[in-house]
Amino acid sequence: MAYPASKYDLTGKRFFRLLVISYSHRNNSNKTVWNCVCDCGKEKQVAYSSLTRGDIKSCGCYQKERMITHGLSNTPLHKLHTGILTRCYNPNSKLYKNYGGRGIMMCDEWRYNLQAFVEWAKTSGYKKGLSIDRIDNEKGYSPDNCRWSTVVEQNNNRRSNHFFTMNGETKTITQWARVYGINKDRVFCRIDIGWDIEKAIITPIDPLVKYVATFDNITLTVAKWCKKLNVNYDMVKNRIKMGWSPEKAIVTPSMSKNTCSKRAIKTAWAD
Ligand SMILES: [Zn+2]
Repeated sequence: MAYPASKYDLTGKRFFRLLVISYSHRNNSNKTVWNCVCDCGKEKQVAYSSLTRGDIKSCGCYQKERMITHGLSNTPLHKLHTGILTRCYNPNSKLYKNYGGRGIMMCDEWRYNLQAFVEWAKTSGYKKGLSIDRIDNEKGYSPDNCRWSTVVEQNNNRRSNHFFTMNGETKTITQWARVYGINKDRVFCRIDIGWDIEKAIITPIDPLVKYVATFDNITLTVAKWCKKLNVNYDMVKNRIKMGWSPEKAIVTPSMSKNTCSKRAIKTAWAD
């Protein structure tokens, strides 16, 4: 029973779920037989050609799963399971770079056992129309990091994880917001109203946003008063920076312009 020539040595090679551990013997047909270990942990002896032709792919567990899968095929959960496997493990998938490409994987329990995934789904609040959502976007698909959510919830979570590159550096928008000391929700609001992403991240909050002025029991931000009364906002900003009260900064007529703020206030009450 000669050891096979190195050309035919399968030691260390993987065939689907089977990893070849060592050479065993030649069978009655004088074919080499190999000791394999299956991904599920079971050991199995398999003939050379069965491995290389792909006739035998596992210890038998794959076959068993296929039968279960058959009963579940085309169910929404089966499609979801397949979709996750594709984006995590198939480099040809368009989504791969955002999943498998950055280390997002499925736990072995779910990966190799659709039934386990389905069981989890049923006991964790799965309903038709909900999507699977990873709680921590840096972590993979596993029972402790997944939940069911509406699409809106998921978009919010996913958006925080949207990657953006500035000056050759890539971070999530949430991380960029942290770098620039600005609240991420403010950044997303700015993007929602049409700012471009970079501007939304790097533009500091106008400190005057927080200043308000009250006239006749009506309190508005300084910016809104300036607009309403047709007063130059930059002038008012400078005055507040010099220590003027917001009210005084708004109503005091400008030295250089003809606009009379006091008259403007009166006309403003008329509308
Ligand atoms: Zn197995």
